[in-house]
Amino acid sequence: MSLMNTDLHSSLKKYFGFSKFKGLQEGVIQNILSDNDTFVIMPTGGGKSLCYQLPAIMKEGTAIVVSPLIALMKNQVDAIRGISEQHGIAHVLNSSLTKTEVKQVKEDITNGVTKLLYVAPESLTKEENVEFLKKVKLSFVAVDEAHCISEWGHDFRPEYRNLRGIINRLGDNIPIIGLTATATPKVQEDIIKNLGMTDAKVFKASFNRPNLFYEVRPKTKDVDADIIRFVKQNQGKSGIIYCLSRKRVEELAQVLQVNGVSAVPYHAGFDAKTRSKYQDMFLMEEVDVVVATIAFGMGIDKPDVRFVIHHDIPKSIESYYQETGRAGRDGGEGHCLAYYAYKDVEKLEKFMSGKPVAEQEIGNALLQEIVAYAETSISRRKFILHYFGEDFDEENGEGADMDDNSRNPKPKEEAKDDVVK
Ligand code: ADP
Ligand code: MG
Repeated sequence: MSLMNTDLHSSLKKYFGFSKFKGLQEGVIQNILSDNDTFVIMPTGGGKSLCYQLPAIMKEGTAIVVSPLIALMKNQVDAIRGISEQHGIAHVLNSSLTKTEVKQVKEDITNGVTKLLYVAPESLTKEENVEFLKKVKLSFVAVDEAHCISEWGHDFRPEYRNLRGIINRLGDNIPIIGLTATATPKVQEDIIKNLGMTDAKVFKASFNRPNLFYEVRPKTKDVDADIIRFVKQNQGKSGIIYCLSRKRVEELAQVLQVNGVSAVPYHAGFDAKTRSKYQDMFLMEEVDVVVATIAFGMGIDKPDVRFVIHHDIPKSIESYYQETGRAGRDGGEGHCLAYYAYKDVEKLEKFMSGKPVAEQEIGNALLQEIVAYAETSISRRKFILHYFGEDFDEENGEGADMDDNSRNPKPKEEAKDDVVK
């Protein structure tokens, strides 16, 4: 099937109310509409959902969307129903549904009403669901958050590994769409191999965030004072400060409060009510700063976060990119400051020592790369993008002077050069 661009644009307008495609969306959608396997790699917020939602609505049959989190699925289904004002168009199929609800979902699918069926991998592998889905008309299978397939990703889920086998049972030549914001070549290889999509057309957006300023400072015993100074210089601006431990989160939040900074703590040790209270205070700008463990941030969409500070070095470049990515969503400034001391790395290593050997090896390899980032004297943006398999021109690329090393190049070690010569 080949569609005129005007048809695509009118569908985009009709179903989503947008007048333009974002980034690579149009090419991706054309490829899906032509029944080809498709691999989409775009940073968070890039607009991946629409890449499968629009073709799903346009194509005959039901598209299966595999997603790891029930909360994510629910949000998406509500959003789709909101725009289409059609009840059965999107459904979630999971174990929390009652018998009656399951029956309704299946009826809608059989009648061709349901265009998008969101499932967790656990539900898709259930025999009764496989038996049912085998018999209905499917347009394609989209695997969202496809990095969950890889142990090198930041969110490995073993159930994702069984997807290919299940999809084979659902029918012949069902097109597969893999989508992820994880850009590392290792993870990409794993996804392609595991989903058996060697022929897929790959669409990869740039991961460069030119409005983010990257900086690393040595971590001394005065780190708290340094953070307070930084936050005070940025008074009235929203910021996130990540700490490794819950204890540190609480201590630092208190130190900030005592020093007149409006801050709240956030970690998974608080009950749900407290967590959502602190989160709302940050979102509604009743406080400037949230001091948090990495439990904070998933799905948080505050466009004007002006700084993200890492009190402790994160566990990988991937995590660092995701966490700092929460700054400057609106395109305005975003200062990403990480404190680094090698003894923190040793702490993280010790932390991992109880885990299975294979996991430790991966964890240590990822850790060595973030250490290299912290210690590098080249453009930090170049370093990060290189890690994601992307070339960056540190002279003229967008955001070329937006890191400490590029602004203040370290003096060349001339003595060493002399020896080489
Ligand atoms: P991702 O899954 O890549 O992180 P989402 O699919 O959640 O990103 O989309 C991020 C935001 O971009 C959403 O608010 C979505 O409505 C918006 N968006 C997607 N496509 C377009 C478009 N063509 N025009 C304007 N906004 C868009
Ligand atoms: Mg997404």
